[in-house]
Amino acid sequence: MIPVEDALRTVLAHARPLGAESVGFAAASERVLREPITADRDLPPFDRAQVDGYAVSAASLAGGRGRLRIVDRIAAGQTPRAAIGAGEAAGIMTGAPMPDGADAALMVEETVESDGFVEWPAPGSTPAPVTPGQRVTRRGAEVRSGAVLLEAGERISAAAIGLLATVGKVRVRVGRRPRVTVLSTGDELIHPRTRRPGPARIRDANSHMIASRCRAMGLPVRRLGFVPDDPPQLAEAVARGLAGDALFLSGGVSMGRFDFVEQVLETSGIRLLVTSVAIRPGKPLVFGVAGETGGTLVFGLPGNPVSALTTFEVFARPALERLEGLADPSRPHLRVRLLAPVSKRGPRRGFLPARITTSAAGELLAHPVRSQGSGDIAALALANGLIVIPEDIGAVAAGKTVLAQPLAGCPDPVTGWHDPRR
Ligand code: AMP
Ligand code: MG
Repeated sequence: MIPVEDALRTVLAHARPLGAESVGFAAASERVLREPITADRDLPPFDRAQVDGYAVSAASLAGGRGRLRIVDRIAAGQTPRAAIGAGEAAGIMTGAPMPDGADAALMVEETVESDGFVEWPAPGSTPAPVTPGQRVTRRGAEVRSGAVLLEAGERISAAAIGLLATVGKVRVRVGRRPRVTVLSTGDELIHPRTRRPGPARIRDANSHMIASRCRAMGLPVRRLGFVPDDPPQLAEAVARGLAGDALFLSGGVSMGRFDFVEQVLETSGIRLLVTSVAIRPGKPLVFGVAGETGGTLVFGLPGNPVSALTTFEVFARPALERLEGLADPSRPHLRVRLLAPVSKRGPRRGFLPARITTSAAGELLAHPVRSQGSGDIAALALANGLIVIPEDIGAVAAGKTVLAQPLAGCPDPVTGWHDPRR
């Protein structure tokens, strides 16, 4: 039995990023960026008016008021026809380039226009003095041409798609998405559609649950359903799964007489690197690699559904993210305040299903979900996070702050950040 940290390190050491591929920028949403993005020009590319109104030289209104002749009207997208001189102004729209000679913009609301002249301030108003640079975004103030705007290894957000469009980066290199195969094992398993199950039969939940999780991560999934605890049939299914980048089996990894998964993986050429982890639930987790590093990652998840999803979240999700090229794969990171006491037996690291909510003051609160243990899929279905209980701790009192790992429905992990523009 090895500590959670050691098992995770072993898994991640064998999860080398897959190759990158080039895609159209609009299709890159939620993919992992595999090249740095730089600015192809200054942003804004010109001195840009922030308001609808008039472009002026602050010096011509230094007296606190003035009447300026309108020599041009500049819409967004237009190039100014002329520079403005002393006593002159140009009508200007939000987003339009400022003409030469102008260094400030007046809001139309603060002015009155008549007979080709603009008067500032509008009668009855007492605006602040006009200062150079007022309501103008200087060329390059946001971004300098050539600057690195995004670094490789980040997941591409909607705003990042907007940025790619802005800098004209119409094709972008992203991590290839790992192809996943999912397979349940167990003589007792029957299809979820079975209307009158025999009393000892169990509907296959795991292959659907793990497939759903992988699809939610945007990964292409092949679900092979379930096979009985029969080594030849298991070996055949494993061989099919090795065509992908990651294979998930569930069940058959404990000490039972019909637990054949480890043995079949070994005879199928899988190098087993983890066969038992100090985690509760999920101790019998198996992890291996087909052939050399870079081969298919194989996870033998425990059969109990809560154990299967917990070990998936703790070990497999970070591995899949790393295969895509994510620099900082997910780990427990939420600090949550316990609303009820929690406890676990033994010296393994505990993960307990919890419902995480936000208080009116913005604090994260964890309601432990009452659970009968690793078989209690009904409890897990109420959870959106896993409370972490450290190895050396048996019980944590209500009111204490603990770490939690988010599940679907919780904020995405962000554990560190470096601003590439600095
Ligand atoms: P095992 O790891 O094969 O010893 O299975 C442990 C427990 O999980 C047993 O109660 C199994 O019936 C149950 N189990 C195994 N596979 C599944 C599955 N695919 N869906 C639901 N329960 C399962
Ligand atoms: Mg079994």
